[in-house]
Amino acid sequence: MSLKQIVEDNSKSIEAADLEAKSATEILTIAIKKYHPRLALSASFGAPEGMVLLDLMHAIEPEARVFLLDTGRLHSATHDLVDRVRDRYGKAVEVVFPRAAEVEHMVREQGMNLFYSSVESRKHCCRIRKIEPLRRYLTELDAYVSGLRRDQNLNRHATAKVELDVGNGGLVKFNPLADWTHDRVMDYVGEHRVPINSLHAEGYPSVGCEPCSRAVQPGEDSRAGRWWWENDAVKECGLHLSEEQDGGLGI
Ligand code: SF4
Repeated sequence: MSLKQIVEDNSKSIEAADLEAKSATEILTIAIKKYHPRLALSASFGAPEGMVLLDLMHAIEPEARVFLLDTGRLHSATHDLVDRVRDRYGKAVEVVFPRAAEVEHMVREQGMNLFYSSVESRKHCCRIRKIEPLRRYLTELDAYVSGLRRDQNLNRHATAKVELDVGNGGLVKFNPLADWTHDRVMDYVGEHRVPINSLHAEGYPSVGCEPCSRAVQPGEDSRAGRWWWENDAVKECGLHLSEEQDGGLGI
């Protein structure tokens, strides 16, 4: 399937390159028109980008779907945000959990906090708690929306606004905020009073699993709080790119 076919809309087709010039709302309108309800927003509820996208998608289609991977190790502030979203938008967030038997086996063999012992153990935990549930959930979809931005880190500088997610079965992946800056995201949050994770106000640029994320100091890289005991070269969890590439979803 070509990227031209991806965004084909009955009577007319839009080249993927054309989408680069379109706004986030225009891209989401195209995505929802073509793929809803086999389209969902992937939101960590631990980054303001996902909440901006949720707000934009809700304005276009109130039934637009959103899902959260609940690893079983999330902060309670993240769960609070799920319920605040439910109250504000009337949105039934689709919460996806890892397979209980796989988690039970992992912690029996390697302990509750295996991720601190080695990079391999940490990646194993991410595979069981994040990657398997994500791939299982994505089999229900034809396309999904992510909050990746190009200036988040070097791995993301080439992020296109629409692409094929080869690592996750060739789904269509929309990145409507690819060209947004952090300041633009936060301006939108303020102007539209979008609910965000309360831990951002305590120094967490992004909020992941409780044992694996911490607040950062002013001036520190925004990813410094993730897996802080590892060096920067290995800090990805394998959700956005293939596991082999050590790519990351930022969840
Ligand atoms: S971020 Fe930490 S606790 Fe969460 S899945 Fe990965 S290793 Fe496990």
